[in-house]
Amino acid sequence: MDSVFQFNHSYQSLGDAFFKKVLPTPVAAPALLLFNQPLAIKLGIQADENDSLLAGILSGNKLAEGSISIAQAYAGHQFGYFTMLGDGRAILLGEHISPDGQRWDVQLKGAGPTPYSRRGDGRATLRAMLREYLISEAMHGLGISSSRSLAVVTTGDKVFREEIQAGAVLTRIMKSHIRVGTFEYARQYLKTEDLESLTKYTLNRHYPAVEIQQNAALTLLEQVLQQQARLIAEWMRVGFIHGVMNTDNMSIAGETFDYGPCAFLNSYDSTKAFSSIDTNGRYAFGNQPNIAHWNLSCLANALLPIIHSDTDTAVKMATEVLNQFPSLYTQLYTATMAAKIGFDENNISNEVIDLLKELMQWMQKEQADYTNTFLTIQGALQCEGIYSGLTFTNWLEKRSSLLLAAGINNEKATEIMFHKNPVIIPRNHRVEEALDAVVMHNDRAKFNQLLQWVQCPYKPVGDYSAFMEPPVNGDGFYATYCGT
Ligand code: AMP
Ligand code: MG
Repeated sequence: MDSVFQFNHSYQSLGDAFFKKVLPTPVAAPALLLFNQPLAIKLGIQADENDSLLAGILSGNKLAEGSISIAQAYAGHQFGYFTMLGDGRAILLGEHISPDGQRWDVQLKGAGPTPYSRRGDGRATLRAMLREYLISEAMHGLGISSSRSLAVVTTGDKVFREEIQAGAVLTRIMKSHIRVGTFEYARQYLKTEDLESLTKYTLNRHYPAVEIQQNAALTLLEQVLQQQARLIAEWMRVGFIHGVMNTDNMSIAGETFDYGPCAFLNSYDSTKAFSSIDTNGRYAFGNQPNIAHWNLSCLANALLPIIHSDTDTAVKMATEVLNQFPSLYTQLYTATMAAKIGFDENNISNEVIDLLKELMQWMQKEQADYTNTFLTIQGALQCEGIYSGLTFTNWLEKRSSLLLAAGINNEKATEIMFHKNPVIIPRNHRVEEALDAVVMHNDRAKFNQLLQWVQCPYKPVGDYSAFMEPPVNGDGFYATYCGT
């Protein structure tokens, strides 16, 4: 097999304080279960799913040509508390350069222990890797910046969790795995020069076109802030709850990643948190913008010594940038939510904002399905049940008169709404059903069907109507789990 990836290792130029060289630990019987051929083609990855050598390479049994594999060092605030972390079960094979010159981290998740594994086994369960594959591809399909999934390889090994499970390795593709926690690590454990080179490296890698304003650190902070404001507004648009927005899970390039305990909203509830360990709702749906802002303050804090040599001045300069977040986020959020009910950016009046608030209050009170409420407004679903009641009907009338006043006809409104309101989201009960079928019965049909629909969420093809329905009895005690 010719070389699958065109590897380069620019991250390693930062010096060995930023990583440890480590080889994946071989697995018993690698078998390719899922391969994302369209992604491989897009990135110029020379691989064919029928190639018998591919499973060996994507399980780590055979080191890919050109790879110098490492585990990256990072720290992070987990549920508000600072701790040293690092890739405990992920191994970076290298940075693949696609034919258009773009750089992509190729990482094997679940590839065995590393110097950062602490007491963990370095492994991942098949169920969790299938879930990450499905939801990351759904996010991409929704048009939201996300890590991508190239493959899932089953290992033939058992993984010991609460019960014995099948093991798997996921190949994750990202612009980079540099995160807020990488900067916190450099600040806490390395020299100021290292923090400086990390900042320059990151700006150069992810924001090469941006002109440095006052200084590199402040410019980076501003760029990350803008990307995160955009990203969180997008999560809110589709009802996505990340579930574990620790600073080590916040990417500097603004990509959604670390799909552990994430889930999508069915009925609207701004306090909704599915993660079994998020008992205080720190990462609840409606709290995500606050947490993003908090995480950005951790990034700012890490950068302080290279923002200004005088700490008070540095704090003042960083605070000025951080203070941009609430208004920028509100502006982006309002624009995307207004588009969900048919108004374009130029027509967001105070009346439209009030109209949105009224809708959210009504949804919360009625526990209305988040996705289907917008589809009903769009006319893609009929006004039945709670949607035929007086409050909602009055709301629709109010909306119609505001659209009329803004000169937006029905056709235009539908066009504005179309790419904002998905028809299909990976609903929790459907995700679990698809995962059960693969893991318990080795039946991939349901998974493949759901994957196909979530990859085209605005215009799915086929008989998908049952997949638009929320679970009959709501989410009940549905809970999600970290690190499985
Ligand atoms: P996460 O919750 O996925 O963001 O992971 C938090 C930290 O735990 C990271 O440093 C991971 O590398 C580490 N980790 C999670 N699962 C394992 C595992 N099975 N073995 C070793 N380290 C792990
Ligand atoms: Mg993580």
